[in-house]
Amino acid sequence: MKRREPGASSESQRTQATESVGRREFLSRSLPAGWVLLAALTGCGEQTGGEGEETAGAPEEATGGGAETAVPEASAAAENPLAGYDPSQHNYAMAIDVDRCIGCGRCVEACKTENDVPREPFYFRTWIERYVVQRNGHTVVTSPNGGISGFPPVEEAEILRTFFVPKLCNHCSNPPCVQVCPVGATFKTEDGVVLVDHDYCIGCRYCIQACPYGARFLHPVTRTAEKCTFCYHRLVRGLVPACVEMCPTQARIFGDLDALSSPLARFQRMHKIQTLKAHLNTEPKVLYANLDGEVS
Ligand code: SF4
Ligand code: SF4
Repeated sequence: MKRREPGASSESQRTQATESVGRREFLSRSLPAGWVLLAALTGCGEQTGGEGEETAGAPEEATGGGAETAVPEASAAAENPLAGYDPSQHNYAMAIDVDRCIGCGRCVEACKTENDVPREPFYFRTWIERYVVQRNGHTVVTSPNGGISGFPPVEEAEILRTFFVPKLCNHCSNPPCVQVCPVGATFKTEDGVVLVDHDYCIGCRYCIQACPYGARFLHPVTRTAEKCTFCYHRLVRGLVPACVEMCPTQARIFGDLDALSSPLARFQRMHKIQTLKAHLNTEPKVLYANLDGEVS
């Protein structure tokens, strides 16, 4: 993996995207911890997902079968985990149908498990907010433990309506977090995902302060910036993010904006789409349908 120069241009950052998702980060997010060391020592690569897993839009190599994969292929994957994946062929985004979210929190749990997010109730890559619009005109927003265990009932008599809003990094096309990073550790990939290179993050927190969506946190152990990656380690294998896969109501739709027949593109055509804090010109790539005006 080549080192990105501090202050590198966005074009430079784009062209270095695949290099920046280095072998170490890729493996650390793709394999159980013990396997990472084993893979490093033996040169073996990861085996890919099980049967029935959903796939991202137009994947190059949606592989399956896990343990049966031939060793030479596994070694090749370890040498270059992104072999066969062409980021220029994708433009990823996520849509969220607010009317479908039931606030069960299974997506939050799936994200924590998939990405080894610390279990403490203030570290989240994705979380659910409940909006309770009261008869007195007030709106109360809560997110107990990120909504990971659902929400307590509210008094029926007090409320006009209630709804749930899943939140995460918006993978902005014009991301303030990238602009303020002094060492180029946070960057935008060619396929439209905003990532952090933990090898170069110095934990200065500038990006955390710059993000208008509260989508980042400092990892308590690594002391580097953390956020949603759209489960990039899954995308390059043709899989959708873990939160999308686990949602029982299909409230989250993931795919390729440029693939006209993808579920995401169809969803976009069939719904009035809104984004959060659109006036900030961050150009979010998390697209909401049926979003109430109360939400920001
Ligand atoms: Fe960066 Fe925040 Fe936008 Fe994500 S939502 S890309 S962390 S500014
Ligand atoms: Fe909403 Fe789906 Fe998450 Fe449940 S899993 S909280 S329905 S987005």
